[in-house]
Amino acid sequence: MKIIKLYIIPLLVMSVLFIQCSTVPITGRKQLNLIPASQMQSLSYQQYGDFIKTNKLSKDQNGIAMVKRVGVRVQTAVEQYMAQNNMSSSLAGYNWEFNLVEDAQVNAWCMPGGKVVVYTGILPITKDENGLAVVLGHEIAHAIAQHGDERMSQGLITQLGGMALQEAISTKPAVTQQIFMTAFGLGSQVGVLLPFSRLQESEADHLGLIFMAMAGYDPNLAVPFWQRMSSMNAGQKPPEFLSDHPADATRIQDIQKELPEATKYYKH
Ligand SMILES: [Zn+2]
Repeated sequence: MKIIKLYIIPLLVMSVLFIQCSTVPITGRKQLNLIPASQMQSLSYQQYGDFIKTNKLSKDQNGIAMVKRVGVRVQTAVEQYMAQNNMSSSLAGYNWEFNLVEDAQVNAWCMPGGKVVVYTGILPITKDENGLAVVLGHEIAHAIAQHGDERMSQGLITQLGGMALQEAISTKPAVTQQIFMTAFGLGSQVGVLLPFSRLQESEADHLGLIFMAMAGYDPNLAVPFWQRMSSMNAGQKPPEFLSDHPADATRIQDIQKELPEATKYYKH
């Protein structure tokens, strides 16, 4: 019995991981994605709809127009990049939307499928369209790189303990076994990384710089934006955005290293 398991489990792990892996655009990093994009999108559309219904949309016509204008430019850049790299299929089912919400929080996000929200509280820090392009490039990059899917997949793995595994084996033996084994580090043999949100952050910075540059915004302006965020951090209560996006010296240094690459995509 033990001998059979030794051979079969790694084979199952390898085959299922091969099927369930996707590749992050630009960085080429392999990631584990157990949840189909269509399923992530329907979850996202449901949640986004609820959010828009229960939050106060801004009435600032200039602000609304700016969010949509910068958003659509970044969207167009993403679509162009994906088309040029034969990755347009990753955008299947996308239904882009850009909304400005009246809320003092310093925050912005993009859910799977291109559902974007900008909070009015971040606009004094973005200052202008260039600053907003840094934020939208970064947030949209999280969605394009399927970071939410990845996090959920990792969550599924975390949730399957020994007891749950026993139950799950009877219904989905191959998948549950590979989830379990991956949780214990076997997955690392085929290049799947365990959760590192800092990794996802720097990946979103990297992709975001390229998307903003392709959208016609100078990627060099990402540095002063993150410096402004960093100086906000010196206040008594760090904004929401900074709990997920620490604007430290390392982040700014990494961005500076990526600027020569991003600048190649910048159309004046
Ligand atoms: Zn981020």
